[in-house]
Amino acid sequence: MPTSRVVLITGASRGIGAATARLAAQRGWDVAVNCVRDTAAAEAVAQQVRAHGRRAIVVQADVADEAQVTAMFAAVDTQLGPLGALVNNAGVIDVAARVDEMSAARLDRMWRTNLSGSLLCAREAVRRMSTRHGGQGGAIVNLSSGAARVGSPGLYLDYSMSKAAIDHFTVGLAREVATEGVRVNAVRPGIIDTEIHASGGHAARVAQSLHLIPMGRLGTADEVAPAILWLLSDEAAYTTGAIIDVTGGR
Ligand code: NAP
Repeated sequence: MPTSRVVLITGASRGIGAATARLAAQRGWDVAVNCVRDTAAAEAVAQQVRAHGRRAIVVQADVADEAQVTAMFAAVDTQLGPLGALVNNAGVIDVAARVDEMSAARLDRMWRTNLSGSLLCAREAVRRMSTRHGGQGGAIVNLSSGAARVGSPGLYLDYSMSKAAIDHFTVGLAREVATEGVRVNAVRPGIIDTEIHASGGHAARVAQSLHLIPMGRLGTADEVAPAILWLLSDEAAYTTGAIIDVTGGR
């Protein structure tokens, strides 16, 4: 069980990451708030964490950049102390495209951010939390997506592939470190009302997708965060390699 109450949440300046940071503070975690660009928004989230009486720092780093990732974890070590948990939340989508329209540059960005970023952060977390490395144990939660199950044809098959790989990574890493005090799980959100859709020019399409969701509405970031916090908590002590759907039934 993690003895440290320090969690690093990547991509926590807005959306699901920010909601997770706020709920983590309410549940007694100190929070390292990562972002790549919008440090003002990340600082506002850090202030909300501090308002709950917990410590918070902002760590700016591109998770796709190995040197920036190692520097980020070193900053957490120095400023907050031993890491107890990682939420691999930072992720990107792209504009709608068929495979026969996708550039290598697009694919490279997708793999580097969504895949290499998650693996590099998990590597640094395992090096700190695994009993094999002298750590006290801990928990990792990866953000997958319901897209992993539907393939997203004509939209972003590359994104769906990256999230299917996150599911695979979750199961594999969970088994790799299962005897080392580190649990690894994933949350698979459905269509959640955040800015990620506008970032890919999908806002109008999302607004017209409600009929695809059995509950008939988008989810909110605040409805995803509790699943993440439960997986981080001692209540999930025997849960590893699990993937929880938060999709409104989709
Ligand atoms: P969002 O609102 O677009 O926020 C993305 C966050 O990731 C921001 O804090 C952004 O930082 C950060 N980020 C982007 N690229 C980064 C990088 N290279 N390095 C570090 N941070 C980076 O996204 P969201 O909707 O909350 O989604 C969060 C996660 O849930 C993603 O992995 C996404 O794929 C997954 N998900 C979302 C949905 C949904 O419907 N929203 C559904 C399924 C899965 P800046 O502010 O600095 O740019």
